[in-house]
Amino acid sequence: MPEGVKGAGGAVRTIVEPQRRVPVVAQPDVLVVGGGAAGIAAACAAARGGAATLLVERFGFLGGTLTAVTLGGFCGTHAIVDERRLARVVGGLYLELEDRLRRRGAVSEPARHGRILGVPYDSACLKLVADEMLAAHGVPMLLHSRVAAVQIEGRRVAAVVMENKGGRAAILPRVVVDCSGDGDVAVFAGAGYSLGDGGKTQAGSTMFRLAGVDTSVAGGLTRARIRELLEQAVADGYPLPRTATGVHLNPLEGIVHLNVTRLVRADGSPYDLSDPDDLTEAERVGRAQAFLYEEVFRRYVPGFAQARIVDIGAMVGIRETRLIRGEEVLTEEAVRNCVKPANRIACTAWPLEKHEGGRGTSWEFLPDGDCYGIPYGCLVVKGYENLFVAGRNLSATHAAQASARVAGPCFAMGEAAGAAAALAVRLEVQGREVPIDALQRSLEEHGAILTPCLA
Ligand SMILES: Cc1cc2nc3c(=O)[nH]c(=O)nc-3n(C[C@H](O)[C@H](O)[C@H](O)COP(=O)(O)OP(=O)(O)OC[C@H]3O[C@@H](n4cnc5c(N)ncnc54)[C@H](O)[C@@H]3O)c2cc1C
Repeated sequence: MPEGVKGAGGAVRTIVEPQRRVPVVAQPDVLVVGGGAAGIAAACAAARGGAATLLVERFGFLGGTLTAVTLGGFCGTHAIVDERRLARVVGGLYLELEDRLRRRGAVSEPARHGRILGVPYDSACLKLVADEMLAAHGVPMLLHSRVAAVQIEGRRVAAVVMENKGGRAAILPRVVVDCSGDGDVAVFAGAGYSLGDGGKTQAGSTMFRLAGVDTSVAGGLTRARIRELLEQAVADGYPLPRTATGVHLNPLEGIVHLNVTRLVRADGSPYDLSDPDDLTEAERVGRAQAFLYEEVFRRYVPGFAQARIVDIGAMVGIRETRLIRGEEVLTEEAVRNCVKPANRIACTAWPLEKHEGGRGTSWEFLPDGDCYGIPYGCLVVKGYENLFVAGRNLSATHAAQASARVAGPCFAMGEAAGAAAALAVRLEVQGREVPIDALQRSLEEHGAILTPCLA
């Protein structure tokens, strides 16, 4: 194996880049970096709020983890009230996306797996629907463009520099919403952040889809039964890093999504998926695991005898990297106690779902029929006047993010950050000065759920 290329943190030598002039290609009111769940919602909400908005995305399509990695379903969108009843906890722009998917037959009814619930969707169609949604809200986007640097003036982000096939170019926004998942803009700006529990983040997973599955059989398998079968494979000598999983049926017949790989080093410790060397190694290891699981499912799991991998995510699935320090921090105590702060801008009821050591997944459920709220201050980057974060890189503790990171709350946080950014532009105030009552009113007027009907 050739020696790895150390990321900036591990470099021992440096060179000085020559100064160069960079063309300014846009001066939007609001720049949204990253087009995942949070970024799609942030961009649409900012434009809806009257801000001239631009979205920049490093891939050639929107959706982020939803499409580049692919998921079993949208999670965190409902609270389970009792055996039969669900309460929606995420509305607003997420529902617009769901409706657009439904019109194309690309979303199914919520699927329950014991005490968790997901809304299955077709990821190829989501790419199209996300394009349509941005166009409908009048948001231009620049794809294949990666943000690589930030310039600061005082406590403001003054310029964001991106790289694409045209070279390097600058954007001069009035406000930035960082929805990059890894907090790239905030980190380039020098914002504080934490990385996992003392550096140990949640393990990532390579995601894949199988065709040729007899879903009439596979759809009836419980998580407990699959675990038994996979543990049998381990006992027979298959080196499976994880045996806890469910079968996620896709809206497309015969297709099953599996979230079963686990990206950990030989000693069981997770890779740091913001480190280029670790990321490279994790891609290689994850692909090998996907094909190992294909073999095991074909051999051990009913309904999968003819199954073949038809799609592997374009990149490894990253659950957690840097969590950006905001004006407030979402804590696990607030999540566990279902705290609904007066300045909440999003709600969810997703459990604390941890992918850490061993072959299992740990689930810590909230009480049935309850949820918690995410405070506005978790989106306002501490020490900066015009910088927001939204999505899985929110300001939270490691354990709290294990709940808030799923797609439903990421959409809701993005919608709130975009709406707040537009208000900050219109009222000419800093992020932390945005009037919370005006923000909440505007979110609720557009269907966001800040007081879920849980009774
Ligand atoms: C393996 C796995 C399984 C999961 N399963 C589920 C599930 O079943 N249901 C569920 O609801 N949630 C699930 N999640 C969690 C959830 O999907 C994500 O946390 C959520 O979608 C994150 O959305 P986001 O918008 O915050 O970030 P991301 O989806 O990571 O989006 C970030 C976007 O920013 C772009 N970007 C990054 N850096 C730059 C840059 N420098 N310049 C320009 N663009 C940039 C990326 O390309 C990407 O499009 C899972 C996550 C993983 C990893």
